[in-house]
Amino acid sequence: MDKIRLGKTELMVTRTAMGCLPIQRTDMEMAKRILRKAFDNGINFFDTAIRYTDSEEKLGAALGDVREQYILATKTPAKTKQDALADVHKTLERTRSTYVDLYQIHNYTGDIAAFDDPNSAYAGLLEAKEQGLVRHIGITSHVPAVAKAAILSGKFETLQFPFNYLSGALEDELIALCKEHDMGFIAMKALSGGMVGSVPATFAYIRQYDNVVPIFGIQHEWELDEFLALDKNPPTVDEEMLALFEKDKKELGSEFCRACGYCMPCPVGINIPTSGRVHLLATRSPYQRFLTPEFMEQQMRVEQCLHCNQCASRCPYGLDTPTMLAHQHEKFMAWYEEHKHEAK
Ligand code: SF4
Ligand code: SF4
Repeated sequence: MDKIRLGKTELMVTRTAMGCLPIQRTDMEMAKRILRKAFDNGINFFDTAIRYTDSEEKLGAALGDVREQYILATKTPAKTKQDALADVHKTLERTRSTYVDLYQIHNYTGDIAAFDDPNSAYAGLLEAKEQGLVRHIGITSHVPAVAKAAILSGKFETLQFPFNYLSGALEDELIALCKEHDMGFIAMKALSGGMVGSVPATFAYIRQYDNVVPIFGIQHEWELDEFLALDKNPPTVDEEMLALFEKDKKELGSEFCRACGYCMPCPVGINIPTSGRVHLLATRSPYQRFLTPEFMEQQMRVEQCLHCNQCASRCPYGLDTPTMLAHQHEKFMAWYEEHKHEAK
């Protein structure tokens, strides 16, 4: 498989990499089968997170015996040095590893200067690096300004950020900046949580960027087979795809929520990053939590939206937030009707 250098980490990662969030929804035997098949067919880069319930354990069970032959990336949401160090040890145990290739600060939205604090999560990762438990430190964010500050800080070797053919100038600027600072750019939400319809077109679009590695979220074996086939015969962007990019950008671009939370707070208490993707979340991640009365009480606030547009005016991606919420809510309610009998 074709590989690219992940910036100054010098890690050579396959250009088809695997995001391990969706395997939370797969039972252990099937998850092991998919992960092993991905590895046996040449994929060498697997990205997971402490927060993805049993995803790290599944990686450990599937690939523990070949640990040194693949590149492991994970993430911590820890806020303190102590918690970050505890997470590193948890990952090592779960993944049956003695080191993690890339440990990332997960979904950071705050001030990058906070990482100068000797008690910060970043300090914890630095200490783990000194101890040889972690080889490289990266960051993931959904907020352009935070991502830019992270690149300019010189503290990180990789940036993970939402990127696909619905993206625009903001993301292009970050990719160029990563190149300039010799940082690896890892593309999350490559399929926008299932929103973009054409996998070959997405694949071809991202391959145009020689410093970007997409982590494709894979839950089913047939999805893996599709990516393996595409990697064998990589498509290139053609006229038909260009037309599709244009069309989807017009139709779907206004609903590609990156979950950055910049639009908050909402005067009626709508949780916009969750409700703005609620149908995608319920159909792509473990869904029991979306069936609880507490969650439904929160979700139903969407019906009280004042259409004041405060959220839209704050969204760095220029999304029509109230319309997006209404669309997701409508699709979610149809899904909820079908699944409510499964509530525990
Ligand atoms: S438009 Fe609706 S969702 Fe947005 S801030 Fe106003 S009430 Fe909240
Ligand atoms: S609507 Fe915009 S600001 Fe709000 S979470 Fe989504 S991308 Fe971020």
